[in-house]
Amino acid sequence: MMSAMDRLAERLRRIPGGEQRVHRHAPLAPYTTYRIGGPADLVYEATTVPELQQAWQLAHEYGVSCLVLGRGSNVLVADKGVRGLVILNRCSGLKVDPGGVLTVASGTLLNEVAERTASEGWAGLEWSVGIPGSVGGAIVGNAGAHGGYVGDVLEAVTVLDHGEVRTLARPELGMGYRTSLFKVIPNHNGRPVILEATFALRPADSRTLRRQMAEWLQWRVDRHPQEPSAGSVFKRTAQYPAGFLIEQADLKGRRRGGAQVSPRHANFIVNLGTATAEDVRGLLEEVRETVEARFGVRLELEIELVGEW
Ligand SMILES: Cc1cc2nc3c(=O)[nH]c(=O)nc-3n(C[C@H](O)[C@H](O)[C@H](O)COP(=O)(O)OP(=O)(O)OC[C@H]3O[C@@H](n4cnc5c(N)ncnc54)[C@H](O)[C@@H]3O)c2cc1C
Repeated sequence: MMSAMDRLAERLRRIPGGEQRVHRHAPLAPYTTYRIGGPADLVYEATTVPELQQAWQLAHEYGVSCLVLGRGSNVLVADKGVRGLVILNRCSGLKVDPGGVLTVASGTLLNEVAERTASEGWAGLEWSVGIPGSVGGAIVGNAGAHGGYVGDVLEAVTVLDHGEVRTLARPELGMGYRTSLFKVIPNHNGRPVILEATFALRPADSRTLRRQMAEWLQWRVDRHPQEPSAGSVFKRTAQYPAGFLIEQADLKGRRRGGAQVSPRHANFIVNLGTATAEDVRGLLEEVRETVEARFGVRLELEIELVGEW
């Protein structure tokens, strides 16, 4: 007899183009910037908003738990992988109306949004140049850089919430430092899926924006490690950047298996090539305990641990 997972796989394959975009027991490492993560029972790549919606609804229908991943640049996926369906959100597209309202599909790369809107003379998201995530992931974690935050310009989000499409306005989104309404709801089925979002941009000189963006890109090249990572592991504390405390605790360069506290940027734990999720997790726990013992501050995770630990 076919399992619910097999039947779901069959239904997903029948979505036009689905044959090439459904994978059983697929390792998730290639879909994360950490290049770490065991297999998902089932992976489906959604290339349009209706596909994203349909895949989620089918998973629900078959009683299979479902996790949406953008570019996997803010997660650590367990070595045992993820049970159920993982939807890779590849639905992209954006437009800015004459009044500066940007409407963007949730799978669009943040970097692409920054480049396109700045080139068209709209300011508001230019600070996100070089961030390797999707718009959906950036809303979940209220991504930010150089003093800008997604939440500053976000107007509304269209979500699929328990099978129903709804639009949530900014005050309902609980945007805070590296958090949102979405982040506080446990991942998998309970969390609404972000389909589309609107942002309020303002007119600006495109050449000035692009000059500033080139400087910020260079800042990333100069400052960030080159090895695979998920960016900053911990949130900044009320008083200090997490990296400062980690450096003061003499943890720069500390290794566990193939994972290392980057000698270049102490708040990055990098994959030296052979790191497992357990290596990274063990190292981040060690960092957290050492910093707490030295300074009495408990570091809070910025990245999300997902899957079966
Ligand atoms: C080198 C590097 C530099 C970085 N620099 C920055 C930086 O300067 N500032 C910053 O804020 N972050 C930074 N990041 C972290 C990361 O890129 C951002 O947080 C990014 O916005 C995450 O997007 P993502 O698509 O990769 O999310 P993912 O990692 O795929 O997902 C993150 C979480 O959001 C959920 N999610 C994703 N899409 C959806 C959706 N459509 N609906 C519902 N839930 C969803 C996932 O289930 C997961 O729980 C950096 C990361 C790296 C590797």
